[in-house]
Amino acid sequence: MSEIKNQPHALVTGGAGFIGSHLVDLLLGKDWEVTVLDNFDPFYDPILKRENISQHLSSPSYTLIEGDIRDQELIDQLGEFDVIVHLAAKAGVRPSILNPTEYQDVNVKGTQNMLEFARKRQIKQFVFASSSSVYGISPNVPWREADAVLQPISPYASTKVSGELLGHVYSHLYGIRFVGLRFFTVFGPRQRPDLAIHKFAEKMIHKQPIPVFGDGSTRRDYTFVGDIVQGIEKAMHFEDNNYQIFNLANGNPVYLTDMIHFLEEELNVKAIIDRQPEQPGDVPQTVADIHLAEKLLGYKPETSFKEGVKKFSEWKKCHQ
Ligand code: NAD
Repeated sequence: MSEIKNQPHALVTGGAGFIGSHLVDLLLGKDWEVTVLDNFDPFYDPILKRENISQHLSSPSYTLIEGDIRDQELIDQLGEFDVIVHLAAKAGVRPSILNPTEYQDVNVKGTQNMLEFARKRQIKQFVFASSSSVYGISPNVPWREADAVLQPISPYASTKVSGELLGHVYSHLYGIRFVGLRFFTVFGPRQRPDLAIHKFAEKMIHKQPIPVFGDGSTRRDYTFVGDIVQGIEKAMHFEDNNYQIFNLANGNPVYLTDMIHFLEEELNVKAIIDRQPEQPGDVPQTVADIHLAEKLLGYKPETSFKEGVKKFSEWKKCHQ
């Protein structure tokens, strides 16, 4: 706790990104002091990240550090924190196949650096952004945290498994409480432009064909970003165990074909489908069992897919 302000202080890596900026909105509204470490990685247009943080900059409780989680010297100079929420990563399955070494470098070495920082500064709470992709193509849905065999099928997914394993080492050796959150396809305002809902909406608005990989029968447990950040905030307070993994999802998977129909309805545009073969690294379905997060975290997703698409579409229409 900061003695002067009596505010808990969170370090949010990746706090200029899609999920991170929503988390910062929530934390500043709940009187947290927040320091963001983000390098404005050019994976997608950094101008969008500048927009994400534009409201945060005027808050006296907010500090932005522009830098890289791989920069050991910079990390060593960071101050004291009550909690680290480690969201910074190279995201995306398909690009990780093209550039596996960089994904390993940022996602694994970067995570190790942040855990080392937690160890040196004795920061006791570490929340980590993992991913549903760790479950690979396991047909045994719904996926549960206790499922024994994680067989990732992309470099990105393997970096997330590695992050969870590193977290276990640090929780065991140094008593750092590590809470790994497996996010399931997150969507909503400010969604990354590379993700399907946003990519499709952009093309549909401009009357361009949308690339649909496979026959449309894939399904995703889409989760509204407001629900995800509610879960992250609960994980920041979690104290039951020193190592815990949770699925954060909606629990109601939606078929790709239905997703497109919802978007058509909200954007009032008929989609032009450009059918493409399935992509390597893509999984046919993601379906979460969220009982553990409901029971131990008090997590409760509140936004249906339909409502979420409506909120996303309203935002998108104002951000062209
Ligand atoms: P995002 O790309 O919008 O946010 C990630 C942020 O990390 C960006 O602002 C980026 O600039 C920053 N970053 C990247 N490399 C960095 C580095 N080397 N040093 C410092 N900062 C760096 O992505 P997002 O969708 O908000 O995802 C946040 C986290 O959640 C990621 O770890 C991602 O893997 C994970 N995740 C996201 C989803 C999803 O559907 N969006 C699903 C599962 C897991």
